[in-house]
Amino acid sequence: MSAIPYRQYAHSEPVKKPVTKAQPLVTVIIPFLNEADVLTICHQRVCDALDQLHQHCEVLYIDDGSQDNSWALVSQLKHPLHQIRCLRLSRNFGKEAAMSAGMKSASGRCVILLDADLQDPPEYIPAMVEAWQAGAQVVEMQRRERHGESWIKRTTAHCFYRFMSKISDHPITENVGDFRLMDQKVVNVINTLPERTRFMKGLLAWPGFTRKILTFDRDPRLAGDTKWNYPKLIHLALEGITSFSTKPLRWATMAGLTTSAIAFVMALVIFTKTIVWGDPVAGYPSTMLIILFLGGIQLLSIGVLGEYIGRLFIESKQRPLYVLMEDATTKPTFHTVDSE
Ligand code: UDP
Ligand code: MG
Repeated sequence: MSAIPYRQYAHSEPVKKPVTKAQPLVTVIIPFLNEADVLTICHQRVCDALDQLHQHCEVLYIDDGSQDNSWALVSQLKHPLHQIRCLRLSRNFGKEAAMSAGMKSASGRCVILLDADLQDPPEYIPAMVEAWQAGAQVVEMQRRERHGESWIKRTTAHCFYRFMSKISDHPITENVGDFRLMDQKVVNVINTLPERTRFMKGLLAWPGFTRKILTFDRDPRLAGDTKWNYPKLIHLALEGITSFSTKPLRWATMAGLTTSAIAFVMALVIFTKTIVWGDPVAGYPSTMLIILFLGGIQLLSIGVLGEYIGRLFIESKQRPLYVLMEDATTKPTFHTVDSE
């Protein structure tokens, strides 16, 4: 693991003529929802970072049903060297669906996922590309610090990542969000995963391939508020758990077995006490306790089962993950790019 001082990439050098093939070197996918306040500066910083690569790249914006003037803003964006592509979903489908739409449409030799609010600083892009060119097929960006987030959010996020990496059927690196680089090969595999319940941290980790972890400090949001409230986060956590592990089902079975064993031992004790010492059986309180305890375990197990059945129901409908409404592409305005 290595930490990179990203500020070294923060200025832009004079733009050189790109040494390119028709396929972009990198596609930066930026899903957004109502981010008009930050999009212009985001575009500027992403393009500055891409300029450091001196190659033709692609920036792919996905409008996830914004209600402000974000779409009007991004669909006008241009760049002399890089292709700017904007896709607009017909409504808000969620960041996971927006990222999936981006990965389906990306044409770069590698793909980077980035948040529009600049919490994941684009100035790391050259270092990520460098790690990819050195042989890593996935470059995961691990959060060292999370500036501008409350301790409750930091602690719950940390606990959730730990819990997920323990129960998941395959490893998910702790404290790595969506900010990462993936080779085209990895993206092609992810694009074949058909599930509608898209817990991206799990899906992105599922293909494996060679990995490198770089650490970074997550910046505070540039403007606006987070789109995730606690109910949404709990929903996401439940989706993650039920789509990437069947362990809760096993825990329900274990809880059932354990309570049965306890009930059996208690029955033996009560039976022996009554037969040998003639003790009267303790009445109402113990009965209530056992009924409540068993009722709780049963409801919990039914709930767990219900979560999995709910997922099956959603999957069985086979609805599309997202609906595209508009596609605006601007080719590089400065035509030095070879068109092979
Ligand atoms: N986002 C999105 N669709 C949504 C919610 C969020 O495309 O339904 C985008 C949002 O505009 C931002 C990124 O996903 O670019 C991360 O969202 P946010 O900053 O609200 O999440 P946080 O960083 O607080 O986890
Ligand atoms: Mg954010």
